[in-house]
Amino acid sequence: MRYEADVIVLEKEQDVCHGISKANTGIIYSGYNNSFGSEKQKLCVQANEDFDRLCNELEVPFRRPGSLMIGYGPKADSVIARKYSDGLKGGVKGLRMLSGEEAEAMEPALAKGITSALYSSETGTVDPWDLCIAAYENARNNGARFMFGQQVTSIRREKGGFTVETDKEIFFAASVVNAAGLSSDTVRELTEQPRVRLFPSSADYIVLDRQAGAAVEHIILHEGEDGKGLTLVQTVDGNLLIGPTNRDSSAEEASACDMRTDRMGLESLEELCAEIVPDIDLAQKIRSFGSLRPNPYYVKTECGRAVREDRSIKDIQIMEERGLFSLIGIKTPGLTFSNELGRIVADKAAAYAGRTMLNADFDPCRKAIIRARDLSLEERAAVIEKDPDYGEVLCSCMDVTLSEVKQAVKRGAYDFESVKRRTGAGFGKCQGSRCRRRIMDIIKSEDRQ
Ligand SMILES: Cc1cc2nc3c(=O)[nH]c(=O)nc-3n(C[C@H](O)[C@H](O)[C@H](O)COP(=O)(O)OP(=O)(O)OC[C@H]3O[C@@H](n4cnc5c(N)ncnc54)[C@H](O)[C@@H]3O)c2cc1C
Repeated sequence: MRYEADVIVLEKEQDVCHGISKANTGIIYSGYNNSFGSEKQKLCVQANEDFDRLCNELEVPFRRPGSLMIGYGPKADSVIARKYSDGLKGGVKGLRMLSGEEAEAMEPALAKGITSALYSSETGTVDPWDLCIAAYENARNNGARFMFGQQVTSIRREKGGFTVETDKEIFFAASVVNAAGLSSDTVRELTEQPRVRLFPSSADYIVLDRQAGAAVEHIILHEGEDGKGLTLVQTVDGNLLIGPTNRDSSAEEASACDMRTDRMGLESLEELCAEIVPDIDLAQKIRSFGSLRPNPYYVKTECGRAVREDRSIKDIQIMEERGLFSLIGIKTPGLTFSNELGRIVADKAAAYAGRTMLNADFDPCRKAIIRARDLSLEERAAVIEKDPDYGEVLCSCMDVTLSEVKQAVKRGAYDFESVKRRTGAGFGKCQGSRCRRRIMDIIKSEDRQ
């Protein structure tokens, strides 16, 4: 929307942030995790530096607790040393190699015997829902039209652009950005020959209640000797996120883009967690969720069939094909550099469509719903004075008030899940069993924008 352009977003679900963007670790990486010289590293370093500004403009809570990458043996030590070197060469700020003793002193809950550690002061964390919903509201406020429940089923090249057909309507566009996540390869092939396909692998996560959130202070990235690692993140809401596993998905799971969890995966996660953080209270588990990694591979066509080549694609690739811009296989750290990548692809799509005039009315800021739980008692009293609905707590686990739920519905939340994502109601220990009915009644009675 920074350009004078008519932008329509076609989304098959009823809300934003239903794909991979809803199910990830929420880490804002500093750039040491990517190979030196890669596009990923360049974008990540740039994005990390710009993240405070982005979150201030969009009023998205963002913390920089810093991260500790830890290892317990020679294989991990060499990986950590390589990441340090890649980070330094790539201009990543705030990196420091630590001895095992130094790392153990910084994080006393970790199992003893750490052989090396890499500290990164600039690593941070956001709630991916907060970020996506804020970006959506900002784009909408600046004039983008969001069409929900519209699955793209056909793309045809026409003179001067494309006809894009969904299961409900037909649209004409001068240029098209294909950001369909796990289906981006299929969407591209609606009009192009197969070149790249996604072969997803699954991930499992466990979330612990806020009581266990402070078990570790920094983001912990454990590099396992056998290739299996563990990540621990205290979320912006104070819960502890544990994960992800990495397991091959069945063809059925992957083709349905099904983000189910797996019992063995969750058990192995708990075992690894108990090994790395021995005193962790896993009884504080409140939920688990699954995700899918969109691993991109080149394919060649043999006897009319697309066959996977050995080469996977490690770096970012924007496939540019006469006005069609496909973002295929955007893996970690795609959340970190989403704004940078969006900017690059928007420049290309606007240029192709001949809409290079900047939108003088563009407003980069978005107002968030004020969260009662973030306020001091005095601030809370002042807010209640102006809006008495802030005085009624609906979700006592997460301290969410009637006013916040009403505002979420006004902004477009249409069911319990979408209210939950916008306010946090239902994310606590009881998982919504106490507030669900009341929230459903409000959804029925409030008007939407
Ligand atoms: C396990 C895991 C952990 C990760 N952790 C991190 C992290 O800590 N930090 C980080 O920076 N990055 C992380 N990432 C990467 C990041 O989450 C992704 O790069 C990013 O979310 C990808 O966003 P996307 O828009 O490409 O895809 P998505 O978020 O999946 O969006 C695609 C959208 O397209 C819609 N769609 C699909 N097909 C159609 C169709 N035919 N018509 C209309 N709409 C359609 C979908 O419904 C969906 O809403 C992680 C990824 C994974 C898998």
